[in-house]
Amino acid sequence: MKYWAYFAGKLTAIGLLLAALWFGARLVVPRAEHAFVDERLNYDMKNVTLAYGFCLLAAGLLYTAVWDQRYRCRTCLRRLRMPVERGDWGRTLLVGRPHMEYICTYGHGTLKVPELQFAGKEPNDWDQHQDMWKELETPRR
Ligand SMILES: [Zn+2]
Repeated sequence: MKYWAYFAGKLTAIGLLLAALWFGARLVVPRAEHAFVDERLNYDMKNVTLAYGFCLLAAGLLYTAVWDQRYRCRTCLRRLRMPVERGDWGRTLLVGRPHMEYICTYGHGTLKVPELQFAGKEPNDWDQHQDMWKELETPRR
């Protein structure tokens, strides 16, 4: 829940930033006299360029927000650290498919990001650790 609330907060902040930027840009570049852009797209280049740049900025900010969210701990929201390569490209059947593992430094979980994708984009796999530190503290027999 905290994870998704943080993501919603980021999206809200991005929305407010984009709204402020759009409002500011509209003060600098006044609205075109006609509501619609000409079919030839050269009727009002200032507004077309402004809309194009604004859409690029919005897409970039959204992509960055989603990318950042994917590499955060689902429990404490800290950035996942210590990337480790697992698997082997040459021995996929013996060792496993190559993937990158990121871990929360507080032991909440591990994110497995596959590097080999057979059938399109595969989702990342988040493994929640129950109590990793307890497991490590238990003496071996
Ligand atoms: Zn964590």
